[in-house]
Amino acid sequence: MSNAESFGVQGDTCRVDILTVGYVEPGVAGTVVLVREDDLIAVVDPGMVSGRDKILGPLESLGVKVTDVTDVVLSHHHPDHTVNVALFPEARVHDFQAAYKADDWYSREAEGVRLSNSVYLIETPGHTPQDISVGFETSDGLVVYSHLWWDSDGPAEDPYSLDRSVLAASRRRILDLHPSWIIPGHGSAFVPNESTPI
Ligand SMILES: [Zn+2]
Ligand SMILES: [Zn+2]
Repeated sequence: MSNAESFGVQGDTCRVDILTVGYVEPGVAGTVVLVREDDLIAVVDPGMVSGRDKILGPLESLGVKVTDVTDVVLSHHHPDHTVNVALFPEARVHDFQAAYKADDWYSREAEGVRLSNSVYLIETPGHTPQDISVGFETSDGLVVYSHLWWDSDGPAEDPYSLDRSVLAASRRRILDLHPSWIIPGHGSAFVPNESTPI
């Protein structure tokens, strides 16, 4: 079982560790995640935190140096999820439209892109038109990082959403994958259930 901070610790699939649990009010911080599988060492959403030690400390505890990080995934382009991307000088950066490394801009669709055997991107517009979620197929089941939810309570109505029906369709799509856990953009990992907002 998972302790809701680490997933896939047992078994030979990818391992996911939550580096920082985000929050909104007072202040705003994003949930930051590390995933490792084979040669992949990826950070998801290195965004706003109260201090960089909130990212760097947990990384160090897990034995990962910033120069070890091979990839960064940005769920969308709000600064609370992107502002610390330059902490990782060697990383290839992934978003909804491309992968970026040094001065190379490689355009592609995000849907279905695999960063490793068990880690893949899912296009999930709704919070913004350009959101992606990240699926992790772990020994604890499918874990999904998704900003479609800020925390387990939703919000039911996302004030940033330009089209409520698009948000609902993406939320439904993720729930239809029957994830064991959802890691939201600004909260702790939760187990989705009937009361999870759509
Ligand atoms: Zn946002
Ligand atoms: Zn956010």
